[in-house]
Amino acid sequence: MSVYLDYAASTPINTHVHDWILDHLELFGNPSSPHQQGKECRDIIDTARENLAEYMQCDTENIIFTSGASQANTLALTYHADNVIWSAIEHSSVIEGIKYLYPSAKNKISVDINGFVNQRQIERALSANKDMKNLVVVQWANNEIGTIQDIATIADLVHSYGGILFVDATQIFPWLKAMDLSEVIKNVDILSASAHKCGGMKGTGLFYSSVPFDDFSPVVFGHQEHGLVGGTENTLSIGAFGEAVKYMPTFMEMVCVLDNRNYLYDELKSNISNVFLNGPELKDWLNEKNTRLPNNLNILIDDVQNDTLIQLLDSMGIYCSGGSACNSHVLAPSYVLKEIGLNDKQANSSIRLSIDADFDPGASILLRNRIAPLVDLIRQSKQ
Ligand code: PMP
Repeated sequence: MSVYLDYAASTPINTHVHDWILDHLELFGNPSSPHQQGKECRDIIDTARENLAEYMQCDTENIIFTSGASQANTLALTYHADNVIWSAIEHSSVIEGIKYLYPSAKNKISVDINGFVNQRQIERALSANKDMKNLVVVQWANNEIGTIQDIATIADLVHSYGGILFVDATQIFPWLKAMDLSEVIKNVDILSASAHKCGGMKGTGLFYSSVPFDDFSPVVFGHQEHGLVGGTENTLSIGAFGEAVKYMPTFMEMVCVLDNRNYLYDELKSNISNVFLNGPELKDWLNEKNTRLPNNLNILIDDVQNDTLIQLLDSMGIYCSGGSACNSHVLAPSYVLKEIGLNDKQANSSIRLSIDADFDPGASILLRNRIAPLVDLIRQSKQ
């Protein structure tokens, strides 16, 4: 039996979406062509945009399809701003994009031990640059430690200084309905998301903006998608994205995922010595204000090199990661974990486990039975 624990990196294609894809595989027209073949493809893209707008409770005109969240993030950073203010734990596509587009930018906002951005620092940066057009970049939920930022409050703060707020919503996107976040979205100016984190295909993402599209520069030249993302649209993948959002978890399904995640943590913590949680506390969604993605677990297992453990687990059919898949080729320890105060050794002893609604609670016992002896083995081999 294999256990996939890397839903934050990518999700399998939803079974309904899978069937929809097979039913539409024969469609090959160019959505910009004036004939029937083209129109059928255009209809698919229009329907997908409508489904996504309904899911987000926004207007279809505000949505642009991209090749993924990385491209949507890049497009967001082309906003014609004078100054950028960004959180230290943004996705690598944002961090690298800022380095390239704003080489002298200085307003990197630190986070606390649980990954929450320092709002006072944001305010100071806005106040110090109040004569400028400020773009503030805060990821809604972190891909490694699951921290959910208080975007409603941050949006009010940014707007009180006349700034523009860009939110990378890639990880929280599947939970928008369950968490009832459509009112918060109305206060966000720019937002990005990705299809392959919510049962769709890779290579498709979404860029939402209530700011006029003229205020951005193209990431691919051409006429499609308001001239910001040129090139023939990936009709099938866009259509699949629009289908996928019909099947996002309900509140009760989310609570079930959260219970399973908490149980998995209890099993690991009580059967392996020196296991610590990275990121916000695990809470019960029904009783307390939650500030962590319901499916995310990130644990530090003292004295255990994470890549050794991940490889051994892989050979047993248990799939998890050391952090962001996008940084897995980077040998340096996770910058997210370092920003919340871990040292190199602790960061390199941490693993991320992310589950979904199909996670069988019985797997928690199997997992702790598999992981505990491996941890002992790795620790003994170092003595
Ligand atoms: N932002 C976040 C928070 C992510 O987790 C990811 C995927 N790892 C991305 C952006 C990039 O998404 P994509 O793979 O669609 O480019």
